[in-house]
Amino acid sequence: MRDKEKEEEIFNNRSTVYGPVKSWRLGMSLGIDPIFETSTCSFNCFYCQLGQIQEITDQIREYVPTQRVLDDFKKILDESDRIDVATYSGSGEPTLAANIHEMIAGIKKLAPHMPQMILTNATELYLPEVRERLKDLDKIIVKIDAANEETFKKVNRPAAGVTLARVLKGIKELQKEYSGPIEVQSMFMPLNIKEASEYAALLKEIRPEVVQLNTPKRPYPSEWHRENRGNHEKLFDYRTTDLKTLTPEQAADFESFLRKETGLEILSIYK
Ligand code: SF4
Repeated sequence: MRDKEKEEEIFNNRSTVYGPVKSWRLGMSLGIDPIFETSTCSFNCFYCQLGQIQEITDQIREYVPTQRVLDDFKKILDESDRIDVATYSGSGEPTLAANIHEMIAGIKKLAPHMPQMILTNATELYLPEVRERLKDLDKIIVKIDAANEETFKKVNRPAAGVTLARVLKGIKELQKEYSGPIEVQSMFMPLNIKEASEYAALLKEIRPEVVQLNTPKRPYPSEWHRENRGNHEKLFDYRTTDLKTLTPEQAADFESFLRKETGLEILSIYK
């Protein structure tokens, strides 16, 4: 088998379901990619492990047929002996998929005891129909990397019309309707650590179950490669840019500051 084919097979590159990949919080997580064909997101985060997003949009539509995802899921489920959770993530923002609720229902039928969760940038949660599609998930993890619109633009580089205010409105509406746990996941770098107090105030307003502090673990790839789905450690030989991360001391100070300020459960990948 040629190297490229071997790589594609290892990373399930022809499948809308990938992994399982080991997650520092979730255990062995099977990734569900409802976007798949190209990288498509309402953000273009400057640290994104997918690289420069190809289609920066907040257009909600069907990107992959539901049955294809269910067929791919069944195939991997039959081959893998240990999977703890199914996580919607992949090649962009999963809530842009208009058929995500069909995938959630289909996977529930195929694996009734497997918890399902989503990593979302929360840009579409202001829409009632999007919140309705997610209601049967076991956990929703929302991304908040900025505490004001200026930093939001610099870090997340959103599609036209997407604002931090819209993100926060969506999360608050979700809290009123969704019965499962909502967690916050944030990526910190020297650029956004300066707003620690503003960020703490924002967390106090939202009061998520858990806050996960993250840092970019891999350099930023110059372009999209599907094998970058999931948080595996492998680096490829294409061009990348190193990202500035926090020092362990900065991270530890920040973590204890947040714990003291908010009283929330704070978990950190920096340890
Ligand atoms: S929200 Fe996620 S997929 Fe979208 S650009 Fe940011 S890191 Fe990448």
